[in-house]
Amino acid sequence: MQPLRHFAIAIDGPAASGKSTIAKCLARELGLVMVNSGAMYRAVTWKILELGIDPHDSDSIINALQSMDLHCGVEGNFSTVAIDGKVLDEELRGKEVNQAVSIVAAIPYVREKLVQMQRDYLQHTCVVMEGRDIGSIVFPDTPFKIYVDASEEVRAARRSAEGVTDSVAARDKADSNRTTAPLLVAEGAIVLDNSDHTVASAVAAALDILRSQGLVCDV
Ligand code: C5P
Repeated sequence: MQPLRHFAIAIDGPAASGKSTIAKCLARELGLVMVNSGAMYRAVTWKILELGIDPHDSDSIINALQSMDLHCGVEGNFSTVAIDGKVLDEELRGKEVNQAVSIVAAIPYVREKLVQMQRDYLQHTCVVMEGRDIGSIVFPDTPFKIYVDASEEVRAARRSAEGVTDSVAARDKADSNRTTAPLLVAEGAIVLDNSDHTVASAVAAALDILRSQGLVCDV
């Protein structure tokens, strides 16, 4: 029997640019699974903090990750991440995780392990995956790549409207300046400026981009 061929749509961009919302809507419209790769970095960070490990202590983080019971799955059309058998959600969006996640995500071993788990999704399903390095590192060969951007003011306003304490600018700086897999516009990605779009018009613009990249769909 021929193996099933699955594909990925890569949605990258800075914090609070609206990429999750666009990725969710695309997944729903196209009948794909939306994978939130940031949740995986957040889950590892949450567990590290639970264990009382300093986020700057790479050696202890690597040790902890080697024996961590971390599992990525799917529920409905969305990815899930579980540690020690517990699916994590609200815990991942706390202030402490916001502050530490970019430090933990800069550790090459952490990225190696999570990138493999991200690629494994394609063994089972087609995905819309959002993150920082999906088009550049995780799925560099996919033709479907969008970089969602928005002005710093719009992004900071979005986060504070959600009632979240999150230094978006500091995280972006750390994510863009790290040595391994920095945030950038991947080769072949088309930039979607989401500063002034409504959700509906942003999704329509994203679908136009994907069609221009060769996606055949009837939505
Ligand atoms: O997408 P979200 O804002 O939840 O991501 C949280 C953090 O996880 C980012 O600021 C970044 O440090 C890290 N991340 C990453 N690579 C990804 C997704 C997220 O380094 N593909």
